[in-house]
Amino acid sequence: MPEVRKHDTVVIGAGPAGYVCAIRLGQLGVDTLLIEREYMGGVCLNVGCIPSKALIHASKEAHVVHEAATMGIKLKLEGIDLAKMQEWKSGIVKKLTGGVGQLVKGNGGHVLMGSARLTSANSVEVRTTDGVVSVEARNIVLATGSRPVQIPGFAFDETFVLSSTGALALSKLPEHLVVIGGGYIGLELAITYAKLGSKVVVVEMMEQLLPGFSPDVVKVLGRVVKKLGIEALTSAKAKSCKAPQGSGRGSVIIEVGGQERTLPADAVLVAVGRRPNSEDLGLREIGVTISERGFVPSDARLRTNVPSIYSIGDLAGEPMLAHKGSKEGEVAAEVIAGHPAENDSRAIPAVVFTDPEIATVGLTEEHAKKKGVDVAIGKFPYVALGRGLSTNETDGFVKLVVDRRSDVVVGAEIVGADASSLIAEVALAVEMGASVQDLALTIHAHPTFPEAIMEAAKAVHGEAVHIMNRPV
Ligand code: FAD
Repeated sequence: MPEVRKHDTVVIGAGPAGYVCAIRLGQLGVDTLLIEREYMGGVCLNVGCIPSKALIHASKEAHVVHEAATMGIKLKLEGIDLAKMQEWKSGIVKKLTGGVGQLVKGNGGHVLMGSARLTSANSVEVRTTDGVVSVEARNIVLATGSRPVQIPGFAFDETFVLSSTGALALSKLPEHLVVIGGGYIGLELAITYAKLGSKVVVVEMMEQLLPGFSPDVVKVLGRVVKKLGIEALTSAKAKSCKAPQGSGRGSVIIEVGGQERTLPADAVLVAVGRRPNSEDLGLREIGVTISERGFVPSDARLRTNVPSIYSIGDLAGEPMLAHKGSKEGEVAAEVIAGHPAENDSRAIPAVVFTDPEIATVGLTEEHAKKKGVDVAIGKFPYVALGRGLSTNETDGFVKLVVDRRSDVVVGAEIVGADASSLIAEVALAVEMGASVQDLALTIHAHPTFPEAIMEAAKAVHGEAVHIMNRPV
């Protein structure tokens, strides 16, 4: 007989959606069991946000050597010990993942390591190393996340053909790295390895890198990518690859401009998107709706079409971002605890940790126009910013999107140093329905990057101080 347990709520998946949900449920006094099959902290903490940002930071440190000479500092890079770098990265991951279980338990929750499958709308079967455990629950929260998409001819072996997981675990620097996919994951890693010394080619099927981002933002990134020696091929299709034989080098065959081209490759990173983990959970059998792309949609209260089952995080749909999942986790917990909560966020910020960073929130200029907003734009370049010049960070701009009729800030695109931090101020403005004057009239400390937000806000009405204003 399998062991039988009873809890008020079961959360399946301990990524940033599931573990945050379990912690919040604990805070609200709900008896909760968090089930995880592989690693506490999910993709984000183990093989996503955190390890990628650690390597991005390390590669930036290595690259400083090249930039320092401009400021009269003569440095010599003796070499890159990638194995040591990985050790440092793993230490960070370990610290963070260790904290997750402690926080869940510290808030009164329980954790069970094993693979879960639903057997009804109120029960789950969990395969653990010690056998099968049956769990009955009033509510089930699905937070099983997503995994990398594979493409034909490029099966992941994590030695030659790498997913992002393999690319974050390399202990030897590939001399030639081909990155298939010019989205945010592909570009973050392409820039990282280029800075560490790999010769990188990015192969993107669409007409521009970062499809979906505004062309003026992508243009800034394009300049930097070129400066780093990365070859970015757009409207290009990866067709096949050949792993290295003996001491020889592997290759990737692509099609670009109607011609076939063979690229040398010691490793190929395939970063063409992610797919929700909705199979093998027994969802169809109990009537939970699954979308064509495999997502399990939920409403503003995070409920699926089956009343006792909730869906959050990457599994619930785009944007597949950690903070979006965490917010959904908190709201789901509050709904389960009987609070009148719902997810009514106006905007979700998104950051691309390239160099320079790119950050967006709310509507882009193009989206706002498509929605019929009478758009006013305020733009301010980093090159006119004291802080930008004094830190040698002159690439980029802040662009605010404002509803001309109401003066309300509806979105922003920022490309440049520390865009990831700057976007928080505009996210707050969008969330609060702030007027652009609220940003323009707030005193910003000098000399700082956020002054670019204040100046862009002033530029909306032709009042920016450190650039010549265009007629409005
Ligand atoms: P996940 O983190 O995928 O966690 C789901 C968990 O469920 C996993 O631990 C899995 O083992 C478990 N699970 C699945 N099925 C079962 C089952 N049947 N039983 C038990 N457990 C199960 N997002 C950002 O916001 N910022 C970034 O900078 C960023 N960088 C990224 C970089 C990379 C390289 C990658 C790959 C992703 C990045 N992301 C980033 C995306 C982010 O990692 C995801 O959006 C986030 O992890 C999703 O959280 P989640 O909780 O929905 O799912």
